[in-house]
Amino acid sequence: MRLIIFGGTFDPPHYGHIELISSLNFSNDDKVIILPNYIPPHKSADASPEDRLNMCRLAFPDLEVSDYEIKKGGPSYTYQTLQFFQKEYFLNRDNLIYIIGADSMKDLKTWGHPRKLSRLATFLVFRRPHYNNVAQDIKEFQDLYGGNFILSDIIGQDISSTEIRVRNAFDQARDYVPEGVFEYIKQKGLYNKYRAITDKYSQFGLSQKRIDHTLSVTLTALKLAYVYGADSEKVILAALLHDIGKNLNLKRAYELGLSISYQTIELPAICRHADFGYEIAKTFFGIKDEEILNAIKYHTTGRPGMTLLEKIIFLADYFEPTRATPGLDKIVQTARTNIDQAVELALKNTLNFLKQNNYEIAPITISAYEYYQKENKIGI
Ligand code: ATP
Repeated sequence: MRLIIFGGTFDPPHYGHIELISSLNFSNDDKVIILPNYIPPHKSADASPEDRLNMCRLAFPDLEVSDYEIKKGGPSYTYQTLQFFQKEYFLNRDNLIYIIGADSMKDLKTWGHPRKLSRLATFLVFRRPHYNNVAQDIKEFQDLYGGNFILSDIIGQDISSTEIRVRNAFDQARDYVPEGVFEYIKQKGLYNKYRAITDKYSQFGLSQKRIDHTLSVTLTALKLAYVYGADSEKVILAALLHDIGKNLNLKRAYELGLSISYQTIELPAICRHADFGYEIAKTFFGIKDEEILNAIKYHTTGRPGMTLLEKIIFLADYFEPTRATPGLDKIVQTARTNIDQAVELALKNTLNFLKQNNYEIAPITISAYEYYQKENKIGI
């Protein structure tokens, strides 16, 4: 027999997970186990282990869902789990298969005891959109620790649990998880963390169009975060709040008690909302992290020497798919491999557009363009 284990956080389980399992060509002799973890050492979970276990049972009604790691408690180290199942079923590396996606493959060398891991199971690796280096990641791991890897030709669906948790705050999770899981999420009130932000959009006068744009910016920013390894929680908070000041004018901003500097007043009126957003995020949403606040503040104008988070929000706002600006494709492509070059192209397009239409230009956008033009020539 072969034992195929699909481990993960499943926070929540979604159609991407289900499709991976459905694509397997297993025989009657094979056994498949779904294995939700307890506390993954390399990430945190929003739902409790018990809720994730229950949701896995709803998502995979025909398969065994094991509570081994959850019952064991403590950090879930895969090498210990594999040791357990090897002994339990008298298996070796060839007939114990462990499924991982390309994002997990990228991190595999950071998991506990990678050399032991490599001797315990054969890893079946699935490609995922936005993770283009999977073959290289396998080679790197093998050069360091050896191991058996099978790279599937199948590319997983373009969804993740993180995106579903965000979509839930916009009442848009239903299409991505089985009905039973969706009902469970609703009934238990799971994944409501970001509603603390989305519930307040109307208070700040955001239109439905602006809310749709905000969701699209968040999902686009998350995809860039996967490529560049940025902190997804910070990306989500900055993206959800980037346009929170969009519908305010100076009068309303004063009425809300926002602290407004001369620099904000001197900005072209169309850019002031980003400064308002900075103040609102601080005052009304308790955001203290300057990196998040600055990603909100500079998302329209850009600035010289932006952090990775600032660049991600700036670009996601510029080219999220609901934008109809011409010439975006090249910038989207460039952003996948060279974020600084993409920032330079976006700044150049913005400046050309403003000049052609005789619109006022914020000096900081000119200095940002000059900065990235110069730095990209030198090769940052
Ligand atoms: P998160 O967004 O919280 O990281 P996730 O969608 O990656 O969640 P996990 O529970 O971490 O879900 O996934 C379990 C395993 O399934 C991981 O190895 C992951 O790489 C893989 N996986 C998840 N979604 C997909 C997908 N859409 N395509 C391919 N592999 C996937």
